[in-house]
Amino acid sequence: MGTYSRRRTDRQRLDMVEKQIRRRGVADERVLQAMSLVPRHRFVPKAQFSAAYADCALPIGHGVTISQPYVVAMMTEALSVGPGIRVLEIGTGSGYQAAVLGACGAEVFSIERIPELHRRADRLLEEIGCGDIALRLGDGSRGWPERAPFDRILVTAAAPDVPAPLREQLADGGLLVAPVGDDWLQTVRRYRKMGASFEYEELEGVRFVPLIVDSGEGSG
Ligand code: SAH
Repeated sequence: MGTYSRRRTDRQRLDMVEKQIRRRGVADERVLQAMSLVPRHRFVPKAQFSAAYADCALPIGHGVTISQPYVVAMMTEALSVGPGIRVLEIGTGSGYQAAVLGACGAEVFSIERIPELHRRADRLLEEIGCGDIALRLGDGSRGWPERAPFDRILVTAAAPDVPAPLREQLADGGLLVAPVGDDWLQTVRRYRKMGASFEYEELEGVRFVPLIVDSGEGSG
């Protein structure tokens, strides 16, 4: 495949934002602006370049996917982020969602359990420069206690429930957005922590790869 010209990818990206995102009801200008800027084609494998701006999730290796653009937009809007907001993301994957959060002005902390994906995202985000983003390799279901509390937490892998450490590391008054369900079908929930209460509303049906909880030494 030949090289994609910059103008071509710019045009595809603006098209994506208008047709897949704004037209479906995402109205947060900060999110729309961020997604018009972040070069999504850089976050997909070369073999997927031509599909980078298509209306779907794409495989990025290791059995995981970069989420559909609309789902990234919808979850970022639900999270309500902006400058000065500290966000923890679980499941860095390609780094695209982290880049979108960074481009919204948030201070981003993101955890990935697969070393190769972590390294690749680290290199790419360094090169592209999408704001203030710190990455860590490890089991995100334990959160990032040294950097807690977080104003927002975004889980981008599916689980039947929100792991307790994440609830604990959310600041009072904070929001947590996560796809909750089984391996096949989940609903995006937005939780709000208010003192001892942790209540949620349901947003939309989605399908993410599972959150894998590494069970520690030798227990299988
Ligand atoms: N946000 C990503 C897509 C997420 S795919 C993007 O923008 O590209 C889900 C990711 O979660 C995968 O990369 C998977 O390896 C990772 N993951 C699954 N369980 C995890 C865990 N316990 N801790 C950290 N990352 C995890």
